[in-house]
Amino acid sequence: MERTIAHIDMDAFYASVEQRDNPALRGKPLIVGGRPGGRGVVSAASYEARAFGVRSAMPSSQAQRLCPQAIFIQPNIGRYAEVSSRIMEIMGRYTPLVEPVSIDEAYLDLTGTERLHGDTVDTARRIKAEIQQRERLTASVGVGPSKLVAKLASDYDKPDGFVVVRAAEVRAFLDPMPVGRLFGVGQRTRERLERLGLSSVGSLARCPEEVLIAHFGPHAGDLAKLARGEDHRLVTPEHDPKSLSAERTFETDVEDVAELEKCLLALSDTVARRLRKAGLRAGTVEMKLRYDDFHTVTRARKQHESVDSGAALYRVAIGMLHELQLEGRKIRLVGVGGSDLVRGEDEVQLSLFHDDSVERGRRIDKTLDLIRDRFGRDKATRASLMDTED
Ligand SMILES: [Mg+2]
Repeated sequence: MERTIAHIDMDAFYASVEQRDNPALRGKPLIVGGRPGGRGVVSAASYEARAFGVRSAMPSSQAQRLCPQAIFIQPNIGRYAEVSSRIMEIMGRYTPLVEPVSIDEAYLDLTGTERLHGDTVDTARRIKAEIQQRERLTASVGVGPSKLVAKLASDYDKPDGFVVVRAAEVRAFLDPMPVGRLFGVGQRTRERLERLGLSSVGSLARCPEEVLIAHFGPHAGDLAKLARGEDHRLVTPEHDPKSLSAERTFETDVEDVAELEKCLLALSDTVARRLRKAGLRAGTVEMKLRYDDFHTVTRARKQHESVDSGAALYRVAIGMLHELQLEGRKIRLVGVGGSDLVRGEDEVQLSLFHDDSVERGRRIDKTLDLIRDRFGRDKATRASLMDTED
């Protein structure tokens, strides 16, 4: 059966909320994010700032060079989350199948809502209008037979777009797009595809699967399917995150390994706390490091037994850190993450590698959680972090 999936993506969300709430910011190049003098990055840029080439995730200092007249403001995540939940609530009135992807973006499965709400495309249009009317914010909406197509469609005519791609139009819609637009195609895969002359989605779709498999391994078949628009992923409302991570950009680059270790410990505690709060455990521990020249390395290690304690995350992260050549290198950012997340209760496995320190680490974390919940998060921290609190 043909599905109707909508992807709804708010336009320059943080910046638009700020401009809506403060008329003095309207029509001006606005950057929400880290201060330009510091080491932060752009979280969101208004369209007036984007005209100067400012993009999210760009260092704030670079953004300021591109657009010296930009107004910088610190993000107010609590406010954005509030607006976001009202927007998600509007979507939820039309279908129970709403899958938030981030604070300002969600997939909706509108299949089968005709009897209640009429034509599905009209429904998508109505949701967009209702968001505009109630929140005075614009969204770009893509409607298609799959998540892949809906997402590319919402991005097609931003801002304030409304693009519908029918099943019969999918190939014509996808074919001219650069392969990098397919999810799962990162920069390296894209470059390798381009070297084979496969720079458009259409050329990839027409390439024999044997050729792709010979070059890219057994998973290349999935890539070809995606290029042909075959994407059967469901819209799943109970959205479990695929990974959880925390990172820190230093105000000044760090050379001292002991300082990095302390920071890793704090980040491990943060990630572990979020895992436990979500009732999740990580099957893989990840570590990320960015040097002062912006070269970034990531490491991931699969665990015999999934973890949710700060101590366990830290032990793995620190092991990966020590495998890197750090002498004399200046570090700009470190991060810790957990992926391959499983529901805590799913895992009752007994591990051969079980050791008491895991259990002990878990008990310590639980106690810290309790104290933090009761007295606020500053009150409880591991002894070794005491001198790093900022
Ligand atoms: Mg957005």
